[in-house]
Amino acid sequence: MYYIDQKYLLLLSSQLKQFKKKSDGLYNFRCPYCGDSKKSETKARGFIFRKENSMIYKCHNCGIGASFKNFIKQVDSKIYNEYILERYKKKEVEPDISQFRKPKFLLGDSPLKSLIKVSTLEHNHPVKKFLEKRQIPSRFHYELFLAPKFFEWVNTLVPNKFPSLDGDHPRLVIPFFNTKEKMFAFQGRAFGEEKPKYITIVLDSESPKIYGIHKIDWNKKVYVVEGPIDSLFLDNCIATAQSDLRVGHKDNVILVPDNEPRNKEIVKQIERFIDDGYSVVLWPEYVKEKDINDMILSGKTTVEIQKIINENVYNGINAKTQFVFWKKVELKNEKKLSRNQYRHG
Ligand SMILES: [Zn+2]
Repeated sequence: MYYIDQKYLLLLSSQLKQFKKKSDGLYNFRCPYCGDSKKSETKARGFIFRKENSMIYKCHNCGIGASFKNFIKQVDSKIYNEYILERYKKKEVEPDISQFRKPKFLLGDSPLKSLIKVSTLEHNHPVKKFLEKRQIPSRFHYELFLAPKFFEWVNTLVPNKFPSLDGDHPRLVIPFFNTKEKMFAFQGRAFGEEKPKYITIVLDSESPKIYGIHKIDWNKKVYVVEGPIDSLFLDNCIATAQSDLRVGHKDNVILVPDNEPRNKEIVKQIERFIDDGYSVVLWPEYVKEKDINDMILSGKTTVEIQKIINENVYNGINAKTQFVFWKKVELKNEKKLSRNQYRHG
């Protein structure tokens, strides 16, 4: 599919020396196979061009020709794996909805234009490294931005939001788009120890505060998590950016709370979800990590996590029973305490 090829070519472009778009469907850069001219650093004789519904690589220096698939494999094996996965997925389940990921489309005249697109950063840029360390798939780097001076930028959108620019610092900007692909809110995540770790700014309070809603298919199972970054690891997943995961819809919706059985606030929320008739995931005891990104970091794959989730969805009476069991297991300390109180009282 030409659109996917184009998207992945742009993802790779920061790794291609002298990368230029010559015209629609024609790109030029230094050949990553032969390294191009040794005498001139600016000579670039590698070309990518459109052929029917895909792209083809050809170098006029070494003469090598390659399918786009093999070309990606040569340049970046990580991006290659994502490309294969995305092509496979598109073919299998959603042949026609690739359009809505057009990055140009997302930006329009949005205030994000004045920020730095993470997808355009050099491979060894500290922000790229930050995302890599958290294993955030590069197909999402298009929708992440860098605000070098976060407070100053926010003030251009919400005048005087930060009356003092003292201690201004860079943040990762995670935009929330509505179904019309307009940004209505965003989260700024600190790179270092700056507090709070997340700052959420709502620009249009009419839109439901849900991250990822612009790319959700409500005809399939929809997963709801708390953290926007966590949502990137699951299929068809949105995030509420708060511990209340109730999104209105209940059909086909599965709430995936963080795994914090000792956190009273979370436990109480889960009880509310169940009482309200939602399907909810109660993480089995052997899962120790507190959220999905932690599970990824400890070595679980997205496929494994998705499997654990699907095997531990409860609703109605089953949810109530399992919740009591789950809570009893995990809130031992509280129980001991109340027993002691009884004994001494
Ligand atoms: Zn070459």
